[in-house]
Formats: sequence, structure tokens, C-alpha cells
Amino acid sequence: MVHSFIEDLSTPDKFVVTLELVPGREFSGAATDTIKKISKDAYDDGRITAVSITDNPGGNPALSPDALGREILDYGLDVIVHFTCRDTNRVGMESRALQLARLGMKNVLALTGDYSGNGYRGRGTPVFDFDSVVLTAMLNDLNQRLVERGVSPIFFTGCAVSPFKYTEAESWMQYRKLQRKFEAGASFVITQLGYDIDKYQELLLFNQKNAINKPVLASLYLLGKGPAKAMFNKRVPGVYVSDKLLRQIESEYEVKGRGAKMAIERTARLGAALKGIGYKGIHIGGIHKSFDTVAAILDRMKELEHNWQDCLEEFREQPAGRYYLYPAANGNTTVKAEDDTSSGMGESALYLFMRTAHDLFFDKSASFAPMYRKISGTLDANNASWMLKSFLEDPFKKLVLSCQECGDCGIQHVGFICPESGCPKHSRNGACGGSRDGFCEVNTEKKCVWVRAYQRMKRYNETDQLAAEFVPPRLWELKGTSSWINFHLDRDHQKEEKAA
Ligand code: SF4
Repeated sequence: MVHSFIEDLSTPDKFVVTLELVPGREFSGAATDTIKKISKDAYDDGRITAVSITDNPGGNPALSPDALGREILDYGLDVIVHFTCRDTNRVGMESRALQLARLGMKNVLALTGDYSGNGYRGRGTPVFDFDSVVLTAMLNDLNQRLVERGVSPIFFTGCAVSPFKYTEAESWMQYRKLQRKFEAGASFVITQLGYDIDKYQELLLFNQKNAINKPVLASLYLLGKGPAKAMFNKRVPGVYVSDKLLRQIESEYEVKGRGAKMAIERTARLGAALKGIGYKGIHIGGIHKSFDTVAAILDRMKELEHNWQDCLEEFREQPAGRYYLYPAANGNTTVKAEDDTSSGMGESALYLFMRTAHDLFFDKSASFAPMYRKISGTLDANNASWMLKSFLEDPFKKLVLSCQECGDCGIQHVGFICPESGCPKHSRNGACGGSRDGFCEVNTEKKCVWVRAYQRMKRYNETDQLAAEFVPPRLWELKGTSSWINFHLDRDHQKEEKAA
């Protein structure tokens, strides 16, 4: 192997370049041959540390990155496998992790994943038994298991983050979740794609201010007219392409041959700027035909990198009314913070009511807690839990929370909004990267539940409690039982939190 991803990331002066490759829907044929050819050429070129292979991108079926990755590893090029939470439950995920270990695939990019797309005869079930934080923790625990057996850990797990969020709530949630990912065991991070140098800088500053010393790779993309339009039109979750950039790209394509040339130039200029501001490396996507394009980008970057400051300004848009975490640091004055009115009076009143009820009935350190425990125990011992559930819990929670009777309530982690009925990905550890302007990636007409939670809590200066610590996954064995009784009898996921 010419390069090892782990070694290159830990080599102080090494600027790491990785490629993202997207398998097709057939197990063989032109798409697969092209990926293998690009990988082979990347290996021969010597400047690429690893290729990363996507996992059913867009939620649609594609050749497994595990199978393709193993073949590429056999050439001697290192591989990063994308691992999403969308398609299998925790049993399947653990099994896949064991398979990866057996295949010698160490580098994993742990992702919650896009929502389900179309498979055989229609849309697949969106599983999301875990979110990316829990998946990272699972891989870390598998490593610990090996260490306890006297074997070296296998998995080198990374995570994703999108700094390209332009509301305070979304921005804040992304960084908060990033901290949870690192605590869960992530060793590196790859950004989402965007064309805003101030946001790229924001992420580095956040890490610096929070003493996070993990390597960060910035995503780049060979942005042609088609993908730019799709990204601008929100068809690629979490990616940001501005109106100004789209118009510029469209005008470049009006001159024959100029569009493709400018796509290479833009990628190289952004790459040089990102190297200059301190990124550990770049992760290049959008390469579908040949490695020659990557070589051209890297050659041009080399020419540009001594004057990288000259490349900054073209990626600085400062769109009006958009939120930046450190406005003073980058000279950006167009900050739009959430204010007390972001959340309506109804939302606020509901939050206050739910929080008070929670403190009264679901605080194990409260003086009434032993009594609730006793009542719960008596109902449970007499097979009478159903009475509490049917006549009190279900009517109330269905009306107020659209409760789905999971029996392992997670509302307290999401500002008293239900992560089962409210979030299509059932995320309990923070928002996914797909929201746009505060709205959900999946239900685009609804606000992301994490944005709602943030806005509710901001009014009471309680946002610090959001995604403040690791939340274990829900316990499926409790489905259909009383979450109130499960809480008081220490049966739900919070017993694990207590034990941890
Ligand atoms: S509600 Fe938020 S976290 Fe859940 S899927 Fe939608 S955007 Fe993602």
C-alpha cells in the first residue's frame, strides 16, 4: 500500500487528498469498470491517500462499497467505506461491521444517511435504528471488545459535519452534534460541500476554540452545470450552492468548452484556499469519468498554493441575513441570530407546560419520585399498567406529541418534541445534516424538530441542555408498553445513561 489513510492523517505536514466514488446499480459493467480504473490510476499517480465509496447514495440501491472497496484495497489503494444507518437495524449494522473487519476494511465514515429512496418495487423502509453518533459509539465499542481480548482495534471511524448552515439553530446543532461524534469515538471529520470560505473557516475556529484536535478534510466537488442546479434546487441534502454561483456557472457553460475548464479551475482554487487556511486535506467528489480531471485539479492547486490568499475572496459571499458563528473573525457582519420571537407563543407555552410536568413527574431525584416508583411497581406487578397507558398516557401523548407508543420516551432530549413522530430519521443525538433554512430534509414543509427545540429553549436560555450528552438508542423491546412505568422502573434507555 503506497499510503495508509491513518498514517497520512497523523503525519504533521502531510496534506491528504481523498476521492469520493459513487458505485452504480449494477454489480458489473461500465460504471464499476470506471471506478476501478479511476482507483487504479489514483494509485499509480501516488498523490491520493484513499478513495471513499458511498453507501446507497441518495437512499437508492447501488453496488456495496464493502465489495468494491475490497477489490480496490487489493490494488494497494486505501479505502474509506461509507456506513449509513438507513437500511438495516442494529443487528444488521453490527453484522456489517464484523464483515468489514473480516475484509480488512478499517476506515469507516459513519453517517446517519440520506432518507430512503427507491428500491425494488418502491421506496425502502427507512430504518434509522441508530443515528451517526450511536453508530460511531458502536464501532468504538467493537474496538474496545478487541482491546479487551488483547487484539489491536480495527475501526478508524470518521464523521461528517455541515458548516453550511445559515440559521443559528441549525449551525449550533451541527457543532453540538459534532462534539458528540468526537466523544463517541470519531477520529476525523469530512465536511459537507459548500462554497463559502467563511463557513469553512468557522469550523476550524470552532474546533480551535473547543480544543478539538481531530483532522478535518474539506469536501470539494467538480461542479458542472447539472450538479450545480441540482444542489441549488435542494436535491442534494445538506449541500449549499448559492444563486450567484449557479448563475456564474451557467454563464460559463454558454461558451463551448469553458464550463468544464472552469469547473477544474474553481475546484483547484477552493482547494488551494482550504489548504492555505489550515485544512488537513481535501475530499474530492464529482469525478465520474477519469482520473485525469483529478490530476489536472491537483496540478493547478500546486501552481496556486503559494498565492492562496488570492483565491479567498471569490468564495466569500456574505449573503444578507445569514448566520455566522464568529462574525467578527471573518469580517462578516451579516449575522442573523435567533431571537425570542423565533418560536411562537403556543410553542413556548407548550414547552413550559411539558417541562414543568416533566420536572414534577419524571425527575428521579424529586421528592415524589419514590411514590411514583411504588405506584408503577404495583401496577406492573398486577398486570394493570395498561390502565394507566390506555386511559391517561396514550390519550395525552397522542394528542400533544403524536406519540407512537415506542415505550421508551425520548422527548426530554428534543425540547419535549417526539423524535419518533417528529423526525423522519428518529434522531436523538442532534440534527442530521440535511435541513435547509430551518426546514426538514424529508418533510420540507415542516421545521426540523431540532430547530423547533432550539427556538423553544432559547427563550429560556436553556439551549445548553440540547444534545448535551450521548443519548443511547431506544429499546425496541419496550414497544407498545407504558413509557411512564418503564421510566420509573428503570427499564428504558435512561437506565443506560445512568449506568454510563
Ligand atoms: S427533522 Fe431534522 S434531524 Fe430529523 S430528518 Fe428532518 S432535518 Fe433531519
